[in-house]
Amino acid sequence: MFNCIICRYHEIATKGNNRNMFEKCLVDNMRHAVKSIAPECRIKRIRGRVWIEPGNDSGFFDPEILPQICGKLKNVFGLESFSPAVLLPVDMDVIRQTALELAPEVFAASSKECPSFRVRARRSNKRFALTSNQIEIDLVTAIAEKLGENSFTINLKNADITLGCEIRDEFSALYFDVIHGPGGLPVGSNPRVLTLLSGGIDSPVAAWQIMKRGSPTDYITFHSSPYTPPETVDKVRGLAAKLNTFQRKGRLFIVNLAEFQKAVRDNCSERLRTVLYRRAMFRIAEAVARREDCKALVTGEALGQVASQTVANMDTINRAIDMLVLRPLVGADKLETIAIAEKIDTMKQSSVQVPDSCTVFAPSNPATSAPVDLALKEESKIPDYAGILEKIIQDIEIDA
Ligand code: ATP
Ligand code: MG
Repeated sequence: MFNCIICRYHEIATKGNNRNMFEKCLVDNMRHAVKSIAPECRIKRIRGRVWIEPGNDSGFFDPEILPQICGKLKNVFGLESFSPAVLLPVDMDVIRQTALELAPEVFAASSKECPSFRVRARRSNKRFALTSNQIEIDLVTAIAEKLGENSFTINLKNADITLGCEIRDEFSALYFDVIHGPGGLPVGSNPRVLTLLSGGIDSPVAAWQIMKRGSPTDYITFHSSPYTPPETVDKVRGLAAKLNTFQRKGRLFIVNLAEFQKAVRDNCSERLRTVLYRRAMFRIAEAVARREDCKALVTGEALGQVASQTVANMDTINRAIDMLVLRPLVGADKLETIAIAEKIDTMKQSSVQVPDSCTVFAPSNPATSAPVDLALKEESKIPDYAGILEKIIQDIEIDA
């Protein structure tokens, strides 16, 4: 019965001169998201909204395909909400008649015997004879007559069932469901970045947060083969695949850090190992980001979480490179991060137990405050530091 999906955005609407770019980006991403399920769909921008039409012969969405389309839209950043709707002419008799046809099925599907109900009308067409309020009263009265006075109660604030009605210049629309999108800005409206993706809980959430602000991301992961098993990388591949449901596929750069870690083990102070690993990771990530035109690095670091994330150590690690590092979780509580990981469905994959690259030769008592000059002194003890990193960068594998 639905012949349109009304899609709403919020933050994009606050954009001034750039609004057109943001809207275009959103529509491109929506098109890409539904392409594999319903390539015939037509997606249009109509003053402050985006409309999806089925584009097929019947003019209606296939009831089996509609939920799949909605499933894809739920992962399109920039979308605040959307509603499968019936598109109608601007004619109150037709609107009322259609509402009366739709209502019995929707009320029958409610789990409550006497659900609460409201009508919310919006009228951007100011020539329409009725005001929003009059439309609401008209529809509630008609539905009460049809279903019986005792079939629902009215609740204007928080109803079990809401009938939405939009009156535009060229058409009107009726809908019942308002499905939440992920909000934020469309991916591609900000420059590409490179996320340091470990198998942990934090970094996938960090990648998601940055995508939510409009930056597409590639991923870089460090393993320590043969000291870590192939499963260490497989786990990250699984996380990248999950994250790619929110954007067009990002590439995964797979780096073997083992040679560097051996050099640190053999030449440097044990307590500084983790900080030195991290500085090397940042340097390698920066080199890849510059080569691949990614404008910033992203990490899942949270202040104070582990020894390498004290202010002093984060500073020392940060000073290894000359590139912006985005740390969206820096002030997050672990439980907040876990809640997001559950929501975006990365938690299960992050909980798979496999050895982590950072724990290879990890010190039992890591330094919590390693000044940068100490790190530099330790690094200078490694014969051919730059050559080792260069060789590692040459050997990077790419999952494209
Ligand atoms: P996560 O849950 O993301 O692994 P964490 O709390 O375990 O984070 P650390 O292990 O200290 O924290 O890592 C901090 C950040 O450094 C990670 O969020 C990630 O961005 C990056 N990082 C750490 N290890 C790796 C790795 N093996 N490959 C890629 N990035 C890594
Ligand atoms: Mg980790």
